[in-house]
Amino acid sequence: MAKNFVLSDILRNNIKNITPYSTARDDFKGVALVNLDANENSFGSVGNGNYNRYPDPYQYELKQVVSKIKGMPIEQIFLGGSGSDEGIGLLYTAFCEPGVDNAIVCPPTYGMYGVSAEINNIKCKEVPLTEDFQLRADNVIAAMDEHTKLTWICSPNNPSGNLYDREAIRKVIEAANGIVVIDEAYIDFCPEYSWLPELDKYPNLVVLQTFSKAWGLANCRLGMMFASKEIIAVINKIKLPYNMNGMTQAYACKILSECAVQKDVLVEEILVAREKLIFDLQQLPSIKKIYPSDANFLLVKMEKAHDVYNYLVKEGIIVRDRTKVQLCDDCLRITVGTVKENELLVEKLKQF
Ligand SMILES: *Cc1c(COP(=O)(O)O)cnc(C)c1O
Repeated sequence: MAKNFVLSDILRNNIKNITPYSTARDDFKGVALVNLDANENSFGSVGNGNYNRYPDPYQYELKQVVSKIKGMPIEQIFLGGSGSDEGIGLLYTAFCEPGVDNAIVCPPTYGMYGVSAEINNIKCKEVPLTEDFQLRADNVIAAMDEHTKLTWICSPNNPSGNLYDREAIRKVIEAANGIVVIDEAYIDFCPEYSWLPELDKYPNLVVLQTFSKAWGLANCRLGMMFASKEIIAVINKIKLPYNMNGMTQAYACKILSECAVQKDVLVEEILVAREKLIFDLQQLPSIKKIYPSDANFLLVKMEKAHDVYNYLVKEGIIVRDRTKVQLCDDCLRITVGTVKENELLVEKLKQF
């Protein structure tokens, strides 16, 4: 049971004893008159900007902003400068002994859990979702063994778009001896279902979020991990020293505090466009099923999906072909576009 969870029992040994690289900027933040410690260019930067100094390795200012937005203390926040994908890799590094430990994934789901496992030589046990893309909690629990360190739960799930039943997720968290990671990349489209408010109940729970989707900042590669302060301390110990560049930090600090309302407007627009797109697609006879979505995309089952995909490519419209993915035969994953883009898509589908 999670209540007996002891972090040091499941950390890799080498990680337990590691002394992190201490960066020049850690020790004398704000007090130095002259910085001659980090082999930066003291004369300035090429170009017009001031980029010659290393950025804050722990993104303190930005974390203050994120802390306010998310209602989480800074010690429970890790920020990734390569998106939430960075967090996925770091969790393997922290908890999974290559060639020994394993993780559980529930396909069809986000591909990076498996890719990152392979990179780290970690075996992934697959426990497929049900036909309607719900978690099989009992099967997930049955697949766990003493070497299962990570269980990946993506809710809302990619590519199916739906949230999992909350009590099924809870059952898995409470039964796991290892870490359970809930990937909430799409949670801003259904924020009332986030697990963040429950984080303090479960010392083995990690929540991933991102600014890439609802906030529209995919280009910034700004990801978030939330967990107990003990887990975050471990992740901080093993992250790359300067894992987020200063331009992203400065830009995100400025706009995130100013633009929370704008995000809400974008989300609302996307949700309206999603409902319209669902309605329009339902009129097409070749559409067999549109799966319920809590996110900004739709999984759509249709006749000759693979041919439709190729046809759309020729017409300059790129969607995601999921026809070869488990439980997704004849399915395309379609991101909700602007009203115009969606209309063009529907128009082209009519002409197929
Ligand atoms: C898009 C996506 C991510 C990646 O987010 P980044 O922060 O851009 O790396 C993570 N998880 C899921 C399920 C996604 O669909």
